[in-house]
Amino acid sequence: RQNERESLLIVLNFAKTFFQETLLNTDEGKGIGLSYFRERGFTNPTIDAFELGYTLDQWSALLQEGQRRGYSTELLEKAGLILTKEGTDGGKQKMFDRFRGRVMFPIHNVSGRVIAFGARILKVDKTQPKYLNSPETTVYHKSQVLYGIFQAKQAIRQEDVCYLTEGYTDVISLHQAGIKNVVASSGTSLTTEQIRLIARFTPNVTILYDGDAAGIKAALRGLDMVLEEGLNLKLLLLPDGEDPDSYVHKLGAEAFKSYINEHSQDFIDFKASRWLTEAGDNPLKRAEGISDVCASITKIPDLLKRQTLSQRVAQVFHVSEQSVISEINRLLRKQQ
Ligand code: ATP
Ligand code: MN
Ligand code: MN
Ligand code: MN
Repeated sequence: RQNERESLLIVLNFAKTFFQETLLNTDEGKGIGLSYFRERGFTNPTIDAFELGYTLDQWSALLQEGQRRGYSTELLEKAGLILTKEGTDGGKQKMFDRFRGRVMFPIHNVSGRVIAFGARILKVDKTQPKYLNSPETTVYHKSQVLYGIFQAKQAIRQEDVCYLTEGYTDVISLHQAGIKNVVASSGTSLTTEQIRLIARFTPNVTILYDGDAAGIKAALRGLDMVLEEGLNLKLLLLPDGEDPDSYVHKLGAEAFKSYINEHSQDFIDFKASRWLTEAGDNPLKRAEGISDVCASITKIPDLLKRQTLSQRVAQVFHVSEQSVISEINRLLRKQQ
């Protein structure tokens, strides 16, 4: 077991280096991959820090180099790097590289070893997924991983807050702008294991999801999970159509930082402002809103925190604290 893990990490590290060399030292890599990163505003130190790479638009560039270096095809396959297909006419197996003609984002574990890859096509079209990720392997369990945690962990401790984003490029662009305490859940919806990983470094989380319908939905879903783990939560929705990557490029680093500080809301204000806008003076809608915020409060393990937050809810919705407390208790009884 231990041996297999180590072998996988070694072959993944070989692939990472091969993809980096392809990006920096081949005509196709420079002409297509590096130009793409340049267009996105990534500098050399950033490309270096995240060990970004490129895969040639060929069927078996990695497979051939891997075999030449003595890595077995079985190992390459177990690492999620190559695919095999049975021949159609009862012929022999065909093997080829999983990642082809894509820019490569290595995914590191907390100690900085490469455990998987995310891979983006250069021009988005309907025929292929925009991002392709490594499959689950012995060393890669995507529900337990946060993209960027290795590059971010020191800054998360120092700043005592972790920014949680949706995507690879959000992490990279914020890091480049000097905001290094940032990670991404990368396509999976947030999991409890990912939240516990953050909790190793700080009790404070700020969710910075994309300002589109999917981002709002994901934020609302992640909210209760973060509270359940006993962490302190703030949220910020970017303007519709923006994500942290696009917005930090639009505003610049300093203005983006001010934007975060001025616009992040605690979860009560975040939920309440949405409900109050929707409800207007419809009392039933307001009651529904109060109940929804109370439902989130029931997730918080700490009794004292729950009590303090009940006061806030009462103020925000202009109702008595007693009615908020009764609603919370009613919901708690229902959950038992
Ligand atoms: P970009 O700026 O490069 O277009 P993004 O990070 O803004 O990418 P989103 O569409 O906002 O992309 O998706 C957020 C994250 O979800 C991505 O970074 C990626 O990790 C994951 N993701 C997006 N599309 C796919 C897909 N088709 N398959 C798997 N994962 C995906
Ligand atoms: Mn999105
Ligand atoms: Mn984006
Ligand atoms: Mn995005």
